[in-house]
Amino acid sequence: MTGTPAPTEIKDRPTIGLVSLGCPKALVDSERIVTQLRADGYGFTDTHEGADLVIVNTCGFLDSAKEESLHAIGEAMNENGRVIVTGCMGAEAEQITSKYPNILAVTGPHQYEQVVSAVHTHQPMTHNPFVDLTPPSYDEAGIKLTPRHYAYLKISEGCNNRCSFCIIPSLRGDLVSRPLHRVLHEAEQLAKAGVKELLVISQDTSAYGVDLKYAESPWKNRRVPAKFYNLCEELGQMGIWVRLHYVYPYPHVDSVIPLMADGKILPYLDIPFQHAAPNVLKAMRRPAAQEKTLARIQAWRNMCPDLTLRSSFIVGFPGETEEDFEFLLQWLEEAQIDRAGAFQYENVQGATSNTHDNHVPDEIKEIRWQRFMEKQQEISAKKQAAKVGKTLECIIDEVAGGGADARSKADAPDIDGTVYLRDVPDTIQPGDIVRVNIEEAEDYDLYGVPA
Ligand code: SF4
Repeated sequence: MTGTPAPTEIKDRPTIGLVSLGCPKALVDSERIVTQLRADGYGFTDTHEGADLVIVNTCGFLDSAKEESLHAIGEAMNENGRVIVTGCMGAEAEQITSKYPNILAVTGPHQYEQVVSAVHTHQPMTHNPFVDLTPPSYDEAGIKLTPRHYAYLKISEGCNNRCSFCIIPSLRGDLVSRPLHRVLHEAEQLAKAGVKELLVISQDTSAYGVDLKYAESPWKNRRVPAKFYNLCEELGQMGIWVRLHYVYPYPHVDSVIPLMADGKILPYLDIPFQHAAPNVLKAMRRPAAQEKTLARIQAWRNMCPDLTLRSSFIVGFPGETEEDFEFLLQWLEEAQIDRAGAFQYENVQGATSNTHDNHVPDEIKEIRWQRFMEKQQEISAKKQAAKVGKTLECIIDEVAGGGADARSKADAPDIDGTVYLRDVPDTIQPGDIVRVNIEEAEDYDLYGVPA
């Protein structure tokens, strides 16, 4: 046989199933595993049954996430029986192996090489000079599990903070930032591969480069320091949307707001405030808890009136009093957080907050959560209603039946709202950025028509 075979001729390539649980950071890990295994010639399938083995990328952040992970492992064991487990829960291997002793291998978070090598051990590739080649389009930018027009860009691993409810530092270790030129090179390759929106993620994005002592990297015939501001400035020159997640309100964050006001990066900040009452923040051991956040938010909005703030909060943290909770509601009203999610506090095995006094009863947590969500819905609904009659730039996610699902600059994929478009021209494609006249608003979503 000569020449390159058509894909249908490749019958002997092992096929891997993948279940990816957890946060966007875990999704990036999955993408790396897929990229490497694809490059090695493996195929992928959506079903457990047709797979030669299944990788389950687990989340171990909350006890409920661990249960979900164990459930996913159980399903893969029942339906396939050949399972490799990785991800955060892999750091506690005995919890998995005691329940599922026949698991092929367990590896911890970010152990891409170990996962890949476990796959090679348990499902070796038969050498095939055709399928062993890395498909050229995957060479640099990797396989994206997210739709092609947006991608997550992970800038660091681990975290130097020690929030009392969180076990991520013990699972993932201290902050390790990727050198700036590597991050920028990956971003540039993604942009060249057609990505129109980058979602910058890490555990603590504003701490980027601290561990590198802001070491300079060569980039475009210049030397650029590994600093949060420089990272944002360089990404802002790539001509695509850049959205920042997991930023803390440190004073140096002020410096990137002008980049947002100038349209270089999206006017969007995802800041997990978690609470507002000083004694709860102290008990949580939150980074930047001492900063005057309300004044800071006001100053940001003065510099960039279109700024959207997204955040997450924990209600019912041990020791949270009714007064603390009222303080949080009042703070929310003043801060006018555009988008907020709330969780009821849960003990996580290994977290120091488990041993705190005065745990809040479940029924009070539930009531506080309801009150929080009502307040947030009220704020969100007002902000959404104010958008009716405006023209907003939106990125198209999906086109179907003469309409399209899109997102404005204020909407991150999966976690924020959708802009539903009617009467879209046939030429519109996912990833296109279009101007949209907003006609109607709901609490979280908008409706409109291309301008
Ligand atoms: S900042 Fe706090 S909550 Fe976030 S990963 Fe670090 S320790 Fe955990």
